[in-house]
Amino acid sequence: MAAEFAGNRLSRVVGALVRVALLVLLVGGALRGAAPKYILFLTADGFRSDYIERLQPPHLSALIAEGVRVTHVTNVFPTVTTPNMASIATGAWPRTTGIGANTHYVREEDRLVSAPRPTVATIAGMLRPAGWVTAAAGHFMLQPAVEFYTAPGYGESEKTTDAIIDFLENKNAHFVGAIYGSTDQAGHRHGPDSPEVREAVMGIDRAVGRLVAYLKAKGIFEETLITFNSDHGMSAFEKRQASTEPAQALAKAGFRVATSAAELKAETQIVVLNAGVRIIYFRAVPSGAERERAAAVLRQIEGVDVLGRKELDALGCHDNRSGDLIVSPKAGFTISNAGGPGGLHGRFAEGNPILFFRGPGIRRAVNLEAARTVDIVPTLLRLVHVAPAATVEGKVIETALEAR
Ligand SMILES: [Zn+2]
Repeated sequence: MAAEFAGNRLSRVVGALVRVALLVLLVGGALRGAAPKYILFLTADGFRSDYIERLQPPHLSALIAEGVRVTHVTNVFPTVTTPNMASIATGAWPRTTGIGANTHYVREEDRLVSAPRPTVATIAGMLRPAGWVTAAAGHFMLQPAVEFYTAPGYGESEKTTDAIIDFLENKNAHFVGAIYGSTDQAGHRHGPDSPEVREAVMGIDRAVGRLVAYLKAKGIFEETLITFNSDHGMSAFEKRQASTEPAQALAKAGFRVATSAAELKAETQIVVLNAGVRIIYFRAVPSGAERERAAAVLRQIEGVDVLGRKELDALGCHDNRSGDLIVSPKAGFTISNAGGPGGLHGRFAEGNPILFFRGPGIRRAVNLEAARTVDIVPTLLRLVHVAPAATVEGKVIETALEAR
């Protein structure tokens, strides 16, 4: 009797232990494979990747330590804001977003268009049909697609965090895009090495730190996927200047040139726009000979490279809104304002934006050598099991993801 009783008890204990073990496995498996319930899509304008090492912002560094950092990020050329913000938000190159510059020339409409917006879907537009409540604070490319939008002030880091928290707390938003713009503002005015840029970085860091503290207090930090990214870097003006302003070189060679909407006249042949580089648009589709004659003039300028159709196509540029030619300063050169105060971007040298991810499904404490800003959208969509729009050209950063 006693042995039988002991045996029964043993089998009950073993059974209970097996059930507990199964439960642990199930719960553990569910947690490991759980999709993020929240996405914070944070973009800091003009936040150069090496600001992290140089200035060591504590809250951003802590997120990086728990996530995946990409050390060499390929962004969109020219490295100016509007085409880059469009590509970050859509996962597509300028050839597909149709956005070549902050202001670009549209040949079929024969006019300059400022602040162009993409006609293809942004990540917010892809998430909404899957039931996501979406909101954005200052992330202007997302504005048409989100249910809730506010512009808290481009350089106002604390107000931006206030707006994000308000969307999470009061609007039931599960996707929030936001731009922290103070790094770009301080970088342009004072240059990347200035105390003002340090303060901008630390101000964003404090605001993101407060956001993380809110997520933890609400108990949703571990359910939240955070990407922190940027559109481009920032440089001080080089001391060496190109020998001639490209618009002047073309005018001197006999081309009739405009550099603004006000200068665009009936007789104008070529539009030249400043985007850190110079974007050269022929008003009418140029013949091969005409294009070559202009390119030959531009190649005489010391300190620049002249990029033609083949090079621009390889960079994902639009077949006319990114220009027919781009005059790009060689390393160590600027086209104008050499040695001037403040900072610039637009050149290849400013292809060094910050990018990291932290949250469910993302590996921990990993540095990846390379990825592109167009890869951000498909990577986030994979984690929440939403199919990317057909216009997405980026690829999932598989090496950033936990093994399933
Ligand atoms: Zn920018």
